[in-house]
Amino acid sequence: MDSSHAPHPVSPLEQALHAARALVLADLVAGEVAEAEIVSLVEESVAQRRWWAEQWPEGLHYVAGLVAQDVQDALLERYGRWPLCPVCGSGDPHALDVEPELGPDPHWVCGKIGVKVAAVGSLGTCGETTTS
Ligand SMILES: [Zn+2]
Repeated sequence: MDSSHAPHPVSPLEQALHAARALVLADLVAGEVAEAEIVSLVEESVAQRRWWAEQWPEGLHYVAGLVAQDVQDALLERYGRWPLCPVCGSGDPHALDVEPELGPDPHWVCGKIGVKVAAVGSLGTCGETTTS
């Protein structure tokens, strides 16, 4: 598309990217790791996924899950496991996985006990449940 034309409404792709960014940031805030350096990892991922979704427009439904995974990978190198599983109280701390890896409506899943923990973007609303 030629962006030099008159301004047009925000495209579905931009909406999806904006939503993905907001969801992943919400989860970072929930994990108290939303530092400037880490927020810039999100920006980086969103920029890459913009390019990716421009090549494959149907993929715009998947960007939230992909950005979450990108940030998770980037954090693993620089920061450590994120997000830590809030469900398994004991044993080795482990990170949640995004499922589906490539699909709409991504969730954080504990791979150890195979439980959906929260939708991507909703980690902050589930972390308080400590009773089992
Ligand atoms: Zn777990």
